[in-house]
Amino acid sequence: LPEYAFIGRSNVGKSSLINALTNRKGLAKTSQKPGKTQLINHFVINNEWYLVDLPGYGFAQTSKKNKAEWQKFIRAYLTRRENLQCIFVLIDSRHEPQKIDVDFCYWLGEQGLPFQLVFTKADKQSAVKTDQNVAKFRKTLTKWFEEVPAHFITSAEMKSGTEAILQMIHEVNTNFEAPTT
Ligand code: GDP
Repeated sequence: LPEYAFIGRSNVGKSSLINALTNRKGLAKTSQKPGKTQLINHFVINNEWYLVDLPGYGFAQTSKKNKAEWQKFIRAYLTRRENLQCIFVLIDSRHEPQKIDVDFCYWLGEQGLPFQLVFTKADKQSAVKTDQNVAKFRKTLTKWFEEVPAHFITSAEMKSGTEAILQMIHEVNTNFEAPTT
């Protein structure tokens, strides 16, 4: 089955988004504590695709060594997923571009991994403010990417933006052919 991974800074709203996408409360646990999702979880959705829940990056106290280990772990995972169609990088829409998110996008670009951006918690501020932050983030990426990937704006609270993501996944799935080995 085709796979779609979700990743982002701890507390970005990943669990909440996954719950909103899958409509199954309790499938992914939400937490107030940063860094609770430490393991890679797979969920089969509608017998059609795998949702891959990757551990968050950017704990406040992350040391260089931890960061290197995390990268090794994620890299080892991501680079051998033949069916991986897209990595959704979650970004908190309340903030101006954060170095850790930008660096992670560059890293994905270096690895040649396909990704799209998801700006979360849009209900927390005005749409104008959200759009400004989205535009700033996209502009930051243009320094390195010729073509900045598509983005989605979501709110788990309002359940908005999730349909667009599911639609995109469904479209990609329709054209998916498992790699032959
Ligand atoms: P994770 O650590 O990335 O999995 O983040 P969680 O999904 O556990 O969310 C972290 C905190 O942000 C929780 O208190 C959530 O209730 C809150 N949160 C997540 N998504 C939204 C959203 O779309 N809107 C609002 N207002 N709060 C959110």
